Amino acid sequence: MGQVALNLARKWRSSNFKEIIGQDLVVRILQNSLFKNQFFPVYLFSGQRGCGKTSTARVFASAINCKKISEFQKNPQSCQIPCLQCESCVAMTAGRHPDFMEIDAASYTGVDNIRNIIDTSSFLPLLGERKIYLIDEVHMLSKAAFNAFLKILEEPPKFVVFILATTEAQKLPETVRSRCFQLFFNPVKLDTVAAHLENMCQKESIACDAAGLEFIAQVSQGSLRDAINLLEQARFADSKVTKSVVLSVLGYLDDRALYQLLSFMIQKNHKDMLAFFHELSKQTISTEYVVKRFVELLYDGIILKYSGEPKYFLDIPTELKDLINQMPMAQLVTYFDQICNLDMAMQKTSRKQLLFESMLLRLISRDEIGQLALGEEKKK
Ligand SMILES: [Zn+2]
Repeated sequence: MGQVALNLARKWRSSNFKEIIGQDLVVRILQNSLFKNQFFPVYLFSGQRGCGKTSTARVFASAINCKKISEFQKNPQSCQIPCLQCESCVAMTAGRHPDFMEIDAASYTGVDNIRNIIDTSSFLPLLGERKIYLIDEVHMLSKAAFNAFLKILEEPPKFVVFILATTEAQKLPETVRSRCFQLFFNPVKLDTVAAHLENMCQKESIACDAAGLEFIAQVSQGSLRDAINLLEQARFADSKVTKSVVLSVLGYLDDRALYQLLSFMIQKNHKDMLAFFHELSKQTISTEYVVKRFVELLYDGIILKYSGEPKYFLDIPTELKDLINQMPMAQLVTYFDQICNLDMAMQKTSRKQLLFESMLLRLISRDEIGQLALGEEKKK
């Protein structure tokens, strides 16, 4: 058996601009900055988690100090930066560049670390042309730390570049933010994530199918890092990465099972519904997921009924559309409201599945009582 390469996320971390996935505009702006040799003293990289901020910052830092930068500036077609071969690039790759400092503000929120940066930033760079400070999760800095930091932002040494990265740019003081050149990192598009995963699977000889990879992309919601980590888990869970393998890794249930549950409710089929829950309790399924997904399906149903334009809802499977057609609007809305409200109650109990089960039973019974009452009315 061949050796398994561990940790895909680390192995596939971008080492040059070409390998940065789904951030074309940001890459273009940074490459132009390198070409024109014009750098802002402070860059602010903002965007959701796992979309490439830190990797891009490291690539940009490598490129700034790459020995081939002047060659690149003369003719960008002649070479690529970072070249990954010069002394500076090699030191960056090895994580021992004397002019590159990476600080995790989530672990070092205090003012002392910022004072340390202020003290060291006045010394000339040792190996490259510039000293680069990457401050990750910068919104976590304390107020005192931000105040100290402002002083250096007002008059940064010419050879210093700061790269601040954050998932929550709105938490930065306006005085700091206004001094930054802000670059927005978009959530990586679903098809871009899926295509990247497919490429990884090919190169790493991971057996997979398109539905499995698309599902990983879908649940990762624009975070490439989350997608790669999930792919990693799934490939160790089974010999082939399929949608059902990914579902079981996540403790999720296939939508078709939920359609079945809804159909039992419509038919007021207590017996099969209880059997369904009995089966569910034997598996490691997250009840929170089942409830969340069930609510989403009901919501799709409400929107479908309101719009009356099914052609706009092509992605809703026929199976679900048929079920929705059998339900009056009032019933859909009641189910949606009641199950939505479960969320709060669920946080307070460890018996989540029982709570969900009893709620569905009550909903069916209420329908029955409603219909009985309606029957009585008719008799009168
Ligand atoms: Zn280089």
